[in-house]
Amino acid sequence: MQINKFFKNKYPFLTSYFENFFNSKKRFPQSIVFEGLDILSQYFFTLELARILNCEKEGLEDCNCTNCRWIRENKHPSIINVTPLDFKDDASKTVISVKQTEKITSIIKESSSYHRFFIFSGAKELVLDDNRQNKIREYQNIGYDLSKENWYPYPLNKKILQEEASNSLLKSTEEAPEKVTFVFLSNTKEDIISTIVSRSLVFKMPFWYEKSNINVKEFFENYPNENILNSIEKAAELINFQTSNNLDLIEILNSMQEYLFELIKKNCSNENLKNLITSDIKKVQKAKKQLSASVLPKYAIESLFIDLSYEGRKLC
Ligand SMILES: [Zn+2]
Repeated sequence: MQINKFFKNKYPFLTSYFENFFNSKKRFPQSIVFEGLDILSQYFFTLELARILNCEKEGLEDCNCTNCRWIRENKHPSIINVTPLDFKDDASKTVISVKQTEKITSIIKESSSYHRFFIFSGAKELVLDDNRQNKIREYQNIGYDLSKENWYPYPLNKKILQEEASNSLLKSTEEAPEKVTFVFLSNTKEDIISTIVSRSLVFKMPFWYEKSNINVKEFFENYPNENILNSIEKAAELINFQTSNNLDLIEILNSMQEYLFELIKKNCSNENLKNLITSDIKKVQKAKKQLSASVLPKYAIESLFIDLSYEGRKLC
């Protein structure tokens, strides 16, 4: 059993964890929570796990059996998207309803020859911008696809998967038959009701390509009190590193946001610091938009780092 190299490069820890798991022939987890900002990767990684468990042959990464192919193409009955838009008969378009979770309870009682994956996300229907299309293309290059055009997985939160629906799921997550797995896609496990989290294996999907050996933390050494001159120097360092290693700047900024997001979690009780970090996350978002709108990378990164410095913060 082999997880595709694309994921192996991106998530070496996670990949080897699951490969060991497959080889140990232990029972596959009934419930998994993924955390991180890159929901699309969480989604496709889930499909890859489902592909291996449903392969008719040995689960090799380039296997082209019907199950492997259909799962990659997102047409396989073992993949069940549970979202405000999918797997539902009621009219609401904003929540995963109790009706949906009850439908799951009855469906898992029916036997199936497949290992079924119920993937919970806050999917939205929208016209995909270039940035999202490019991200999807990375996966299309290795044969994967989303189930529909103009459909995109978004993270869960407590407004989408509310208490009542969550509670009605608990029994199913605990007593699921052997070949059923629930997967919850999220930015952070705090966005999912704790009774579900405590019954799940939680995995962080880091944004940063672990192989690139750049440590985003280094850029936040003196955060939030970095002085402006150091900041400008760090911006130049980052651009150098990025060009000489041919890395994606947007991914680097995603990692920075992820890092700041972690900081918020650690400082939940400090209202001022929380507000400051939130406004810094928005600054990184602004830089990402600038890069997507073809602003020169040097300019976008330099102004971001100035904005994040102690003096820069007082200027705005
Ligand atoms: Zn196969």
